Order: sequence, then C-alpha cells, then structure tokens
Amino acid sequence: MDKTIYNYLTPAELHHIQEFSKNKETPFLLINLEKIAQKYNELQQSLPYAKIYYAMKANPQEEVINLLKEHGTHFDIASKYEMDQLFQQAIPPQHMSFGNTIKKSQDIAYAYQQGIRLFTTDSQMDLEHLAQHAPGSNIIFRIISEGSGSFADWPLSKKFGAHPDLITTLIPKAKDLGLHPYGLSFHVGSQQRNISEWDHFLTICKSLFDQTSQQGIPLEAIDIGGGFPAQYIHTTPSIKEYAQGVHSYLKKHFPKLPEIIIEPGRSITADSGVIVSEVILVSQKSPYSPDRWVYLDIGKFGGLIETLDESIKYPIFIERYINQPPPKTGEVFLAGPTCDSYDIMYEKFKYQLPLDLQSRDRAFILTTGAYTQTYSSICFNGFPPLKVYILPKEILANQ
Ligand SMILES: *Cc1c(COP(=O)(O)O)cnc(C)c1O
Repeated sequence: MDKTIYNYLTPAELHHIQEFSKNKETPFLLINLEKIAQKYNELQQSLPYAKIYYAMKANPQEEVINLLKEHGTHFDIASKYEMDQLFQQAIPPQHMSFGNTIKKSQDIAYAYQQGIRLFTTDSQMDLEHLAQHAPGSNIIFRIISEGSGSFADWPLSKKFGAHPDLITTLIPKAKDLGLHPYGLSFHVGSQQRNISEWDHFLTICKSLFDQTSQQGIPLEAIDIGGGFPAQYIHTTPSIKEYAQGVHSYLKKHFPKLPEIIIEPGRSITADSGVIVSEVILVSQKSPYSPDRWVYLDIGKFGGLIETLDESIKYPIFIERYINQPPPKTGEVFLAGPTCDSYDIMYEKFKYQLPLDLQSRDRAFILTTGAYTQTYSSICFNGFPPLKVYILPKEILANQ
C-alpha cells in the first residue's frame, strides 16, 4: 500500500488520536463525531431532496445516534431492539422505518403499536403478517439483487428482495389486504465500487412504476439503499461523486422525481473510527519458512468480521513509523488473538509491515467506525467486546 496515514487523517486529527490513546489499554475503537457530521452533511448536500434513514446497524453507539438525531436524520431499523434503543433516545416513531424484510409477526405488531408506519417487505408471508399486524401502513417492496456483476466489497445479494415479477403480484395484493403500497427499494451491495449498479436497479424501478400505475396503483417513493463508500485501502470516489452519478441516473429514469429515500450506514460512520491495537507476537512457523505471522490483539472475533473472505481491507499503520521515513517492510500474515484458526484477517492479500516490528508496537486500523464494535463477540476466549471511546470535544477544540 503506497498511501500514508495522512491520506486518511489530518495531522491535527492524528495528533489528537495519539494524545487520547496514550497509556490506554488496547484494543479499542475511537470515534470522531465531527467526521460523522461532515459525512452526513456531505451526503445530504449532495442529494438535498433525499430523506436520509441512517442504517443504525453500522454503528448504533448512543453518541452517534444523538448526533444524527440533532441533524434531523431518520433511522432504518432491523429489530425491535434497535427500535427500543431509539425510543430510549427519544426518536419519534415517524422517524423510523422497519427495513428488515425478515421479521417476526409479533415484532411487526410491536412496531405498529409503538407508532411505526413504514415497513419493507419482499415476500407474501411477510406481507400477510404486515396486513394483519400493521394495517394501513406504508409498504416498500425490495427488489432482489441477483449478484450479476456486483462490484460490492460486502455484497447483500440473494438473501433479500423479490424478483420484479413477484413484486408486480405483491403490490395489488398489498392493496387488497388494506396496506398502502408506497414504493420500491434495493441495495446495490455495501461498499459498491460500480456506480452504474444504481442505473441497473433504477431501470427496474422505472418499469415497475409504469406497470403499477397502469394497474391504478401509483407508487410514490424509491429507497435507493446504502452502498455509498468509505475510504479503505483502495482509492474510492467521494460521496459527492457517487451522489452525482446516482442523481444523473435518477433524472434519466424519473424526470419528475418521486420521493427519494436513502439508507446509508458505512459511508456515514466508517471513516470516523480508528481501532488502536497492539502487536502481541511476530513469529515464523519453521526455520526454513520466510513467512512472517503477525498476531494483533484484535481479530475477527474482536470486531473485524468484515475481513471474512478478506472482503474489507482496512488501512493499517504502525505508530512507531508514522512520522519517520518508511522503514524496510515485508509481507505478513495477519491474525487475531483467539484460539480459532478462522481468526486470520489476511493471508491471501499481503499487508506490508516493518521488518523490525516488535511486540507491543501499536497499530492504527483505520476506517473502522462501521460494522466493527457490534460484531465483536461478547466473551469468546474470555475477550470482552470491543471498547469504544468518543474522541472528546475538548481535545478537538484545542487545536
Ligand atoms: C445494511 C443496510 C444498509 C446500509 O448499507 P451501507 O452499505 O452500510 O450504507 C441500508 N439498507 C439496508 C436495508 C441494509 O440492510
């Protein structure tokens, strides 16, 4: 990797992170709320007509939710537990969408009782549950992503959504059952690297809008999902550039725009997080093998589950060499601390780390503000869940 840490953090930010991290036991995740605000604003300003429903699974930390609440965002929830957290944080039900297509009928009833009126579905059985337990609600129908030519680093294919031919039957059924067919949704896959995937789905949306309005059931909204990027090791266009692409596809298919919903998760919070970790051991497996194994105090079970299949490649920097000319580096296998041989983050993709890497060297794992902490196991091998700190404002103010 030829990037330096300054491709991701300003010198001031890095300084604050280092100051805050001093003498703290690793591993931990450090979140910079200002960066979340910045990403949120960038997205909202780039697509001013879009209603943002933050996919809270990406990072449900209380402070993160409060910050987004202050910015007026809405929330996409997947379970009654996420719902309850938002109620505790005084988010009104009108600001929530129950976006998970896989939900218990008793949880639909609970959501409805609490005042939620926006649901996503992709099957007849779920639709019947909705009709029974959430009568009159606004329903969004999710289109399947069949994985063709998906350039998503973390795909969300085939498990979710329905084929357009099924959706054309579900929509009139929803109406007959007393629900309000409201719109369509899709998810191009998380960390989608091909912006034209939105074109593909919007083509389908346009055709479904036309078909249903001919049936006398005009749809009103399109939920363009998540998939916007964060900055991992490969250079990615900015949120603004993605938004420009998506906007042009929207206008191409819908000269008069319907209501637009967007459900970002990763692009809002990933860049705000740094995991501070330390090297436990550097070892070789035989006297003849040059392979260098580096074991960190965090791994797949500590929050880095998105290294499954080496899908997400986090930028990793060794603190001791941040401000010096790059030392001699060499390839490593990178693994975590637990007694499970799945706990290897990277073996095919070779990270380059300093040749004189020492035990207790600190590693900064960047772009870890999304899909990390809540994925960490509660007690595997006795390791506690990943600790989270919010970078204090005072530190940021004293620049
Ligand atoms: C996870 C998820 C999102 C967020 O996707 P990102 O790629 O992280 O922005 C949005 N919508 C739904 C339905 C999801 O499941």
